[in-house]
Amino acid sequence: MITEIPTPAEFREAGLNQLYLAWQISIQAVLDYEQIEEAYGDYIDEGEKEQAAAQYWTKSQPALANAFGLIQQAMEMALKGRIAAISPLLLIARDPKDWPKGADSRPVPFSEFRTLDAADLVKVHNSFAAPPLDDNFRSFWDDVRRDRNRIMHSVSVKTFDPSLLVRTMMETIKSLFDDESWPNRLKAMEFDGRYAAYGLRDDSQNVVMNQIDVALRHLDPAEKRRYFGFDPNRRTYLCPKCYDHADTKWQDEWPRLAQLMDRKKDCSAIRCVICEDVFQVERRSCNHAGCQGNVLHNGLCLTCVGWQYDMRGYASGLEIPEDEGGTPYIIDYIRGNSSQSSTLSFKNNKDVREHARRSMLDDRFEDFEAVAIRLEGRMSPSLSYRRGRLIGTWYRTGDGLRWDSKTEPPPFGIDLTREAATI
Ligand SMILES: [Zn+2]
Ligand SMILES: [Zn+2]
Repeated sequence: MITEIPTPAEFREAGLNQLYLAWQISIQAVLDYEQIEEAYGDYIDEGEKEQAAAQYWTKSQPALANAFGLIQQAMEMALKGRIAAISPLLLIARDPKDWPKGADSRPVPFSEFRTLDAADLVKVHNSFAAPPLDDNFRSFWDDVRRDRNRIMHSVSVKTFDPSLLVRTMMETIKSLFDDESWPNRLKAMEFDGRYAAYGLRDDSQNVVMNQIDVALRHLDPAEKRRYFGFDPNRRTYLCPKCYDHADTKWQDEWPRLAQLMDRKKDCSAIRCVICEDVFQVERRSCNHAGCQGNVLHNGLCLTCVGWQYDMRGYASGLEIPEDEGGTPYIIDYIRGNSSQSSTLSFKNNKDVREHARRSMLDDRFEDFEAVAIRLEGRMSPSLSYRRGRLIGTWYRTGDGLRWDSKTEPPPFGIDLTREAATI
């Protein structure tokens, strides 16, 4: 009796997990390389740089080869899942002589049976399932298996570079895991990841934006179009929605992954390759010096990522310098998931509260939902940073502003009132 027969969904899930792991390994290798290059690249000359890079990639080969093996396994799982959807028994339909001993007299788990050879999966799939996998897929699958076998048996070791891995992963996604967009899936997997277990801040949006940016850089123009609908000949812009969902406190450089929908001069719609949404934009010149951009969304320049009106520059006349008796306060303007933070000094709590109120009533800033004020934090003797005491928050309501001295909007999922209570 066969027991523990996996479902098609379980095969698929296993395949996706392997693909995700391959993705993490490959993209991380590139990010690490870029980080080292940026930190130390200026201190060595061109020749040494080249040598160092070659060495870096040689040393990365075992990890990259591993990632390649994972992609092949992910494909195998996806194919098995499709066959299992017809009947899982097709996967073990070999000569009964090959079946585990006692399969007819005791419970034997499915995993003890030898399943179809990888080389036969497409043949079996196409004999029973519609639509069949085409010849392009068949030759792609044969190539991946051949390369994988070469690594396993260490004959003529192939050199893996990130481009080959990115290309292979994207083709795998397109042919076998295309029911949901890869960026969306990445976001869900990242959000669900191990860091979330500790309630750490949610920067999954940032991670995915940076990863897709890396992937795009390793594809050729035709592949960029095929896998992401991205036109390499067109200007790129920051996506306002992705930016709103990102943690903007710690990142200055933003990947630009949105493009205008057509080439007309007054085109006012952009589409993003990550969230796949289309946005209406305003076409007028950015007011930041040195920026040629003319694509804006709700006061944000999607070229230089500069706010057309900077809350940090707002002056109410109530500010006084620290050396004239001012106390520094941190003022946080919040809009969606992003915020603008500044430190200014005031005579007392009453003045800073009034300053924040006036700024929120300025109609240039109507997109901001709240402004939170706290005393500036300080370093403790153990060098950990302690946040200053909360003074209060102005919340925008339907008909004006509401003051609340007890709460502030929780940035990025962390409940700060709770955090403050435990410090
Ligand atoms: Zn987006
Ligand atoms: Zn600009």
